[in-house]
Amino acid sequence: IKWTEGRGWHDAQLVPYAPLSMDPANMTLHYAQTIFEGLKAYRQPDGTVATFRPDANARRFQASARRLGMPELPVETFVAACDALVKQDKNWVPTNGEESLYLRPFMIASEVGLGVRPANEYLFIVIASPAGAYFTGGVKPVSVWLSQEYVRAVRGGTGAAKTGGNYAASLVAQAQAAQHGCDQVVWLDALERRWIEEMGGMNLYFVYGNKIVTPELSGSLLPGITRDSLLKIATDLGYEAAEGRISVDDWKAATEDGSLTEVFACGTAAVITPVGSVKSEAASWTVGDGKPGEVTMKLRKALLDLQTGATPDTHGWMHPLG
Ligand code: PMP
Repeated sequence: IKWTEGRGWHDAQLVPYAPLSMDPANMTLHYAQTIFEGLKAYRQPDGTVATFRPDANARRFQASARRLGMPELPVETFVAACDALVKQDKNWVPTNGEESLYLRPFMIASEVGLGVRPANEYLFIVIASPAGAYFTGGVKPVSVWLSQEYVRAVRGGTGAAKTGGNYAASLVAQAQAAQHGCDQVVWLDALERRWIEEMGGMNLYFVYGNKIVTPELSGSLLPGITRDSLLKIATDLGYEAAEGRISVDDWKAATEDGSLTEVFACGTAAVITPVGSVKSEAASWTVGDGKPGEVTMKLRKALLDLQTGATPDTHGWMHPLG
């Protein structure tokens, strides 16, 4: 779908997958006005297909557009575009439990020019790819590196938007994590380098017995849809679920005194991933017993059961496509 100043959204098309041809002075290539989303379509037990909370992705896409000075796509148009892509061949959607069809809606500037200002032409596109189960051979806890040298986002910056620049800014820290033998980066706040924000592509939850806490939306972390869903699912299951501030020192101290029993990360790609160990320049420690925790696995099953239709959708989150 195209957007042109003065005309709005027009020319929706469903076309075969193909390379985009682009002018070298396309503004996106220089000033990075890009935003994207990620969501999944799951096969239901009766053979139909449903996407998980596409309206929530659509609203986050609008928020990202506002931050990047781009036009907002109506929620219905976003959802209809995702639906159209999935519906043209539902055989794309795997039939096997955790497997899904991953949808990647995105928007780029399409105006040609070298002036630094919001473009007056944009392109909204959705592509899709079947996605296997994230873990094969059992859920495996990840090791994380606390990045104190680099920050991903600052207050007032673009951290709460899903835009390419945030991910570009994270690449060297991800490489540093790998050099330290860790799977993922955990980001701290930019100001004090003390408060836990999120993981590379996932939000975090801290489990204190019957209570789960996720870092509050500081303005510089992504408001994850899985994070939001888990606040509600955890409450349904009888846990106390809250948003709060957790510092690196709190994390270490609560591990040592045994009050922090589990930590997990959550996002569309992996649903829920246990965090097994933590490393920083100053210290390293194991989370709980380093194995996937009971609460983590219970929440993981509850969310996946809902997405795959094994349990009733009491929140009205599944968007059926027939
Ligand atoms: N944080 C970041 C930086 C991410 O890229 C993602 C993945 N979209 C998340 C958190 C989790 O968000 P969601 O649950 O909507 O996938």
